[in-house]
Amino acid sequence: MFDKSEVLYYNITCVIVRWIMRLDVKRIINTPGDGIEFNEEFDLSDVDFGGVCPAVRPVSVVGTVRNIAGMLRLRFDLDTELSCVCDRCGVRIEKPFHVELERMLATELEDEENDEILLLEDGGLELDELARETYILNMDTKTLCREDCKGLCPGCGANLNIEECHCKKETDPRWAELQKLL
Ligand SMILES: [Zn+2]
Ligand SMILES: [Zn+2]
Repeated sequence: MFDKSEVLYYNITCVIVRWIMRLDVKRIINTPGDGIEFNEEFDLSDVDFGGVCPAVRPVSVVGTVRNIAGMLRLRFDLDTELSCVCDRCGVRIEKPFHVELERMLATELEDEENDEILLLEDGGLELDELARETYILNMDTKTLCREDCKGLCPGCGANLNIEECHCKKETDPRWAELQKLL
């Protein structure tokens, strides 16, 4: 159990962390031509895809919010390096992950169905939540070490990208001839 001082400390930490990740755009809402730049890093190593958490490094989110003729446009690049396992051969691979996102920001939504527009809450945006959602929605459903990965032999388990299948010997025609003689 926590004692009282520990609970208090924990709460304070959470408040500070959330405050840092909130993008406040109030300053530019009424000033066309103005903009805000941001450059943040998020830890998404807890996001689990079927038992694998590929974001082993910090996820960087670099972008801008611009007021273009009274409309707020958000755009950012989300980048990280993924550590995952090839679905066919099981080899661990590292590969870059990159998403570009562009959305309009609005203080009220006229069309709830339109996901091109994000709703501001009290003139701000939860950038950590948006980064998390963008990361999850853009994750590949299939991971391959290379497009033409040959996978593992179902018979002997050999990784066919780097070695010959060991079952082949048994189906070698010469071996079959020899077996007939025996
Ligand atoms: Zn592979
Ligand atoms: Zn084999």
